[in-house]
Amino acid sequence: MRLAGKIAVVTGASRGIGREIALEFARQGAALAIGYAERQDKAQEVVAEIAALGGRAIAVALDVRHRDQVRDGLADCVRLLGGIDILVNNAGINERCTFQELTDDGWDRIMTVNLKGPFICCQEVFPHLIQRGGGRIVNISSVAGEYHGPKTVHYAVSKAGLNSLTKVVARYGAEHNILVNAVAPGIMLTDQTADELASPAGARIVEMTLLKRAGTLADVASACVFLASDEQNYMTGQVLSVSGGAVL
Ligand code: NAP
Repeated sequence: MRLAGKIAVVTGASRGIGREIALEFARQGAALAIGYAERQDKAQEVVAEIAALGGRAIAVALDVRHRDQVRDGLADCVRLLGGIDILVNNAGINERCTFQELTDDGWDRIMTVNLKGPFICCQEVFPHLIQRGGGRIVNISSVAGEYHGPKTVHYAVSKAGLNSLTKVVARYGAEHNILVNAVAPGIMLTDQTADELASPAGARIVEMTLLKRAGTLADVASACVFLASDEQNYMTGQVLSVSGGAVL
């Protein structure tokens, strides 16, 4: 119970990595706000899973493209859960294309969700964290932010920007006891990636890791628990790579 008594908001927690982070936070004793953009049904399923674990959770519409919705959603979290101690900026999207294929619209779509979204969420959560005497922000970045792969042009730039935002917000959070870090996952075995990883192209990607295997969502979730919990109180502005050594 490394997060006992804590209240956490996870954006994009209706599916994928965010869902796994939320479930692990609940197992560690935190109350959860399950953020979603479209899939309220999926978010409610996560709420039910947490209730089945004996935990407390609510589903909250938190489309990170819209400041008003983020502001209202965070206010609902405070009203219904009693405050906010932890924000995980997990919501993110990816689109593959080469540099020459990239359009202005594609650029804006990725930057708005992956970089402007966390900026808005950090800004809007600050007063709530300050009210609690401090808190934690964990940004979910990507190995792409350091690797700058050929088919992840704007995605890579958005995640490199998120790494920078992590450091900037850490600077401003310090005086309020708000510690801000990022987790940068590499190649993860998920329902969506299972087929790709089993293909020859997937095998080549896995070959690029030092450990010669894909990571699991549990690997990402445990890194988030570490950064969100009181077991470490002296890390801020750091990017923790959970990538099997892929960047090397
Ligand atoms: P995913 O399975 O596609 O789920 C995306 C989540 O983000 C969903 O909960 C979705 O909500 C939410 N979302 C999408 N657009 C949103 C918006 N505008 N506002 C708020 N929420 C929004 O994604 P994932 O693969 O788990 O990725 C999660 C994070 O990990 C992303 O930041 C991604 O870049 C990063 N990451 C993933 C991998 C990987 O291998 N999967 C590797 C490195 C980094 P709805 O259900 O409501 O649509």
